[in-house]
Amino acid sequence: MTYTIKDDCIVCDNCQPECPNGAIKPEAEREGYWIDPTLCDGCPDVEIPRCVAVCSAGSLAPLQPKKGRRKSTLLPPAIPAIFLNGKTTSFASSMVVWEACNILAQRQPWQTDADGQLCYRRAVHRGRGEMRFRLAADVESDLPIPMATDKVAQAIAQFDIRAACAHLIFAAYAVTVDCPWEEPFVLNDQHFERYLGLDKRKDLTKLDKLTLIKDLVYQACQLLVALDWPRQGKVKAFSLDEQPVWRLLNVEYYFEEDAQGYRHLIGLGFTVRAGIWAKHFLNKRECRRQTAFYQYGSLPQSLLIEVMSNWQQHEGGVRLLLWLLFKLRLGGDHRLTVRTLLHIAYGEDRLIEATTVRGAHKRLLKTFESDLETIYYYGLKPLFDAETYSLDIQPLWARAADIPDDVDDALEFWVNDANQIRSLTDTAPRDKWQRLLNARLSGFEPSAEWQQVIRRRAPKRGRKQPPSVQVEQLSGSAIKAARQRQNFTQRTLAEHLGKSQSWVRDIENGRFNIIPEDQARLRQTLEIY
Ligand code: SF4
Ligand code: SF4
Repeated sequence: MTYTIKDDCIVCDNCQPECPNGAIKPEAEREGYWIDPTLCDGCPDVEIPRCVAVCSAGSLAPLQPKKGRRKSTLLPPAIPAIFLNGKTTSFASSMVVWEACNILAQRQPWQTDADGQLCYRRAVHRGRGEMRFRLAADVESDLPIPMATDKVAQAIAQFDIRAACAHLIFAAYAVTVDCPWEEPFVLNDQHFERYLGLDKRKDLTKLDKLTLIKDLVYQACQLLVALDWPRQGKVKAFSLDEQPVWRLLNVEYYFEEDAQGYRHLIGLGFTVRAGIWAKHFLNKRECRRQTAFYQYGSLPQSLLIEVMSNWQQHEGGVRLLLWLLFKLRLGGDHRLTVRTLLHIAYGEDRLIEATTVRGAHKRLLKTFESDLETIYYYGLKPLFDAETYSLDIQPLWARAADIPDDVDDALEFWVNDANQIRSLTDTAPRDKWQRLLNARLSGFEPSAEWQQVIRRRAPKRGRKQPPSVQVEQLSGSAIKAARQRQNFTQRTLAEHLGKSQSWVRDIENGRFNIIPEDQARLRQTLEIY
């Protein structure tokens, strides 16, 4: 229950100092106060709310939520809207943005610096440079004053992983302006609702949504960053003093009055500007002169929706997805150890607990396999390294994915399975956890949407490229028809290609796009010309 101040307020100033949440704010345009409903929680710990207890004029009243859907025409438009194709948008993907995303998502360990203040440090370019992050004491302040050390631990503990979504939305808006460190961009709650899938949540009131959006925006704007960057190619070394990663310039509140004259919050507008880091990492003009970088990637909207819907049940899986968004687009070798994935998903403390406390590893193992399954169903198929992550220690869902859909193929599968030394339904080996710690994934097979995300950067200008040959994508039904023409089961085809049976099934169902090398091998094996 939130409270509101009525028109008969005599401005005695008694209530403002009593509010533990700082929800009572002075009016900007006239003498008096208003209550920020995104901060007022109705003082649930006391019988009479603190402000009501000190108001002799009886000017405070509980605010009943408005019924029905509200969309304000007062809200300023966000210019331009992102996700124009409804699927992906460009976003700033520099190391600063990646590490800030990790901080919001992973609750990284913070250290005490030379001034005795808590900070998060990250070495860059093999220790030749460094990024230092701290939290701002007040995100609305013009000055980047760090938060007092005794408050930092509590603020970190309250980080909501969903704030990483607000951070990524800012990173997407930053690429819509030419000089993001100078030009602010404006967003309103309706855009957040749409991008985060909150517009479909019927269980939340408008005020719940506005409170959540504001909270996520404030958390994303809380990070300060200082940089010492080494020389890279022609880009000279530089240092930056502590500045916000995202500067929150203004928050607009939009109210609507009901028949009793009570004002209901129906919208929020945020004016945000990228920090000065963008001058070095998101600078189109200087990038052409090779004196700065312009680093961007592709952000799928489905990732934001996935984070918003799975952040509670699969927090570890969601952390991995956010990390992979940046990691996979770097290109090159995507081999990852299970230990690294565990570290990112659950943190060092949980990993130590699993290796030292009796029985704790079983819980972590179960969670990890379930989180990996979430990633698979989202659209990134883990590729298990045959040597170190063999079939007997793979998750049951991955082994079960090999069971064919076709009844005859399924029968053959179970007959073969019964004749093998280890059957699908056998319990895991006793040393599974130890072996898993040394196991590797050779990468992730991306869905069509994620292929766009990890596409390598455009080749450098000036270098001659061989003419590209357009090869028509093989459809799932064409592959299935060709396989049946050859009298191959899914298993036989998988063996010919050195792939798993589930890979064959997935491409036949059109679940993943097939990379050109695999297409060529499929055409050759199935004689598709
Ligand atoms: S009800 Fe409590 S939280 Fe709300 S404005 Fe009054 S004192 Fe602040
Ligand atoms: S205590 Fe009551 S009368 Fe005094 S400022 Fe607050 S709401 Fe107004």
